[in-house]
Amino acid sequence: MTDIDFHAIEIEAPTYAEISTAYREIQNQLESATHSEQRYEAIQSWDQLRRNIETWECLTELRFHQDTRNDAYKKAREYCDALRPKLMELAVNMKRALIESPFRDDFERHYGLQAFAIWQSEIMTYDPVIELEMIQEATLCAEYTELLAGAEIEFRGECFNLPEIVKFREDPNRTTRLGAEQSRWSWYEQNRERLDLIFDELVKLRTIMARKLGFHNFVELGYRRMMRIDYHEGDVSEFRDAVRETVVPLCEKICQQQAEDLTLDRVAYWDESIFDLGGNPKPLGDHGWLLKQAQEMFEQMGGGLDSFFRKMVSSDLMDLKGRDGKAGGGFCTAFPSYGVPFIFANFNGTKGDVEVFTHEMGHAFQSYESRDKPLLDYLWPTYESCEIHSMSLEFLTWPYMEKFFGDDATRFRRIHLIQSLLFLPYGVAIDHFQHLIYSEPSAKPAERNAMWQEMERMYLPWREYDNLPHVADGGLWQSQRHLYLSPFYYVDYTLALTCALQFWLRSDEDRAGAIRNYVALCQRGGEAPFQELVKSAGLKSPFEKNCLVDVVRCAERFLDQA
Ligand code: ZN
Repeated sequence: MTDIDFHAIEIEAPTYAEISTAYREIQNQLESATHSEQRYEAIQSWDQLRRNIETWECLTELRFHQDTRNDAYKKAREYCDALRPKLMELAVNMKRALIESPFRDDFERHYGLQAFAIWQSEIMTYDPVIELEMIQEATLCAEYTELLAGAEIEFRGECFNLPEIVKFREDPNRTTRLGAEQSRWSWYEQNRERLDLIFDELVKLRTIMARKLGFHNFVELGYRRMMRIDYHEGDVSEFRDAVRETVVPLCEKICQQQAEDLTLDRVAYWDESIFDLGGNPKPLGDHGWLLKQAQEMFEQMGGGLDSFFRKMVSSDLMDLKGRDGKAGGGFCTAFPSYGVPFIFANFNGTKGDVEVFTHEMGHAFQSYESRDKPLLDYLWPTYESCEIHSMSLEFLTWPYMEKFFGDDATRFRRIHLIQSLLFLPYGVAIDHFQHLIYSEPSAKPAERNAMWQEMERMYLPWREYDNLPHVADGGLWQSQRHLYLSPFYYVDYTLALTCALQFWLRSDEDRAGAIRNYVALCQRGGEAPFQELVKSAGLKSPFEKNCLVDVVRCAERFLDQA
């Protein structure tokens, strides 16, 4: 594999005419084939075409995120958004042809069942009748991204963007934390109408698409779009109940301890991200230093992570520092025709930088390990499985945290575990909320806020907002970008975390074995559905009775001893 330089990648936007011609040729190749090998060759040509298209799409999207104010990037993205439904139609037709092919059995033996299961799901999510709605949906998502990326928040005479202002949540001074949160949420308050309007339109559009495709509501379509293959709404609902029964009581205990440690009567919302009076641990150097420490860490971890990270550095496949006009959040994307991933983040000098970094590195490593799978569909697994790779690496790198935090590493590990546990109820609350939203698509903004408040009472009963009117009014969910951009992508984190915590436990008993299983899981990519991947890595499915109970009991024991 040759070394590439990210900055040298230039891809001309393809036209619909070019791509549809290529599709026709592949279709002909497939139809005129007289034996299996020729058919596989045709499928390989199709796969290469898809890799090229995906590389272009991901690059266009990434460049827009890197600079949301750049007009050329914005136009390129708009062109891409407008073309996407048409390309999807071509792909869906091809997938349908393969599903209905008389040679399907042979294909399934050759490529595995999972691609067919995914395609089956996918073809139900698209039809040319929703083309317009799909474009409108993408436009609204871009509007939300731009709105948030453009936020300028005044605090103590300085101007901050959203990823920057949240760093004050970890400030040891309580007045600073409250003040920064007041400024942050007053931005949401000022933009409330626009945020409500964008969301309202998204919900209506998604509901229209669902009905046009023959679904009862968007919940059903949402599950299909997420390609949930081997579990259903009922399983997810039972998992949420398990979180409520086992994790919520533990989190209440954690919050009481936290209040004691902070010498407060109770933990208010603006105290939630801080765990002792000394403030949270921070990485001991800037972003260049952090990468050097990471290099050392991966060299010691081995398992292929070492050479992979050297490549990420030499090919410049990371954009990690926050800056104005850059979109918020962190993610990993990939350019499959080059066989490399890319990491995007917004470092702000908090411990979150290390967490986001190890998280996104997990995604990146997995997609790199799967780059030579025979089908693009196996480059990534479905999202709940993807998040196992990322969250597990956060835990598997625990023994190296001294490199980033020095003497504070022990505190870092304790807080990381606590925040992971606290995340479980929040994660399922977001998931449950979406089920309510899309079951009642005509609800008014105030009714949606009331639904969110119901979720808070159910899953986050310790929450106290008093001095923050917008969130006290049920508006917190508007800061959760997944709700706008990737509906139903959330419970995935909680399912994956339940698996990652199992890796954490195993790593304590048998470190080498845990790393071996982890690398093997990454190498499987997306060739199997969630529960099958989980079991093959020697983990218990989060849907199994008592899986969560066992994991949480061990975590509790660890915290008691810490
Ligand atoms: Zn992730």
